[in-house]
Amino acid sequence: MARIMLFIDGTWLYSNIPRLGEAYGSRDFHVDFGKLPSVLAEQVAKQLGVTEVEVVRTHMFGSYASNYDLMDDDSVQRRLDFFSMLKEEYHYEVEIFPINFRGRRLRKEDRDPNDPFEPKEKCVDISLATSMLYFAAIPFAYDIAIAVVGDRDFKPVLQHVRRLGKRVAIASIKSSCAPEFADPRDEAKVKDFDMIWLDDLLHNIELKYERHQLECQSPGHRGDRRVWTTFHPRKGQRFYCDLCRAEFARQKQDAQQELVSSEVQAIAADIDQRSRVGQVLTGKIKKKVADRGFGFIQAVDGKDYFFHLTDLQTGLEFQDITEGLDVDFEVKKDPSQDKAGAAQNVRGRGAYSES
Ligand SMILES: [Zn+2]
Repeated sequence: MARIMLFIDGTWLYSNIPRLGEAYGSRDFHVDFGKLPSVLAEQVAKQLGVTEVEVVRTHMFGSYASNYDLMDDDSVQRRLDFFSMLKEEYHYEVEIFPINFRGRRLRKEDRDPNDPFEPKEKCVDISLATSMLYFAAIPFAYDIAIAVVGDRDFKPVLQHVRRLGKRVAIASIKSSCAPEFADPRDEAKVKDFDMIWLDDLLHNIELKYERHQLECQSPGHRGDRRVWTTFHPRKGQRFYCDLCRAEFARQKQDAQQELVSSEVQAIAADIDQRSRVGQVLTGKIKKKVADRGFGFIQAVDGKDYFFHLTDLQTGLEFQDITEGLDVDFEVKKDPSQDKAGAAQNVRGRGAYSES
């Protein structure tokens, strides 16, 4: 049975989902990443004229924002949750790389129109190419690579994988695909199969949400906690209603303006040496501002780190937090001279054993 590995350019796919939605006639189109590998593998099987192929592994490459304006915290967390979901629920092999936003908002329209800043994605395409070639060189790792890509930068790797004797299928999107890939005569020698167009498979790969009721877990929620939603929290993930999420964004923005380091240590973050972003530190709750949903941790290095109630891991409830409590946390933002840093994944000391 033919062994298949998928290599997905997540950044490209993610940014093209609205186009797929347009083609589908629904602005609310979402891809079911649980089904995607088998739907694409089925297309390959059809072309091979066999009934079965084996999906050995699905690799996803993408990026996430680091060092961004905390106003965008919610969407960054959602993106990271999405990648965790791919790993935990569907066993994707996920490789993601940070994009340094230097303290700015994520969307261009939310930034100062005179700000020349352009976020730079690093490593994503090289990483995809490296993996595809690496596994092509490992005996029996795969027979067929399905590249879910559109960018012509991948042309050399597809050619080389084929020179190693592996077969390549390209799955892409009509409005966002390099002409060399789409060329039915395949002058570029990049593929062994007819193009697989996601555009033609939208019904098969659409994520169909079921609406259901969940209880909002924000301590500040007003009114009936049960709300209708299409959101499916993963194990250990808290659910907050839209109103509470909007309120959290305001709280974070207010706190950030007053209290949290917004000046960005561009040098530190670029060199990544002095920056502690991502590191786990220990500390004590120094201050809790109960009515505004946040507080500060004093880390062992003596610096203060801001946390919002949405930065707490399950098992640690905001209402149970008292000043002096020992915690572990990850650094989300470095402190500056006179302002606090920011923390995420705050948990009680020794809470590791719970999960
Ligand atoms: Zn709520």
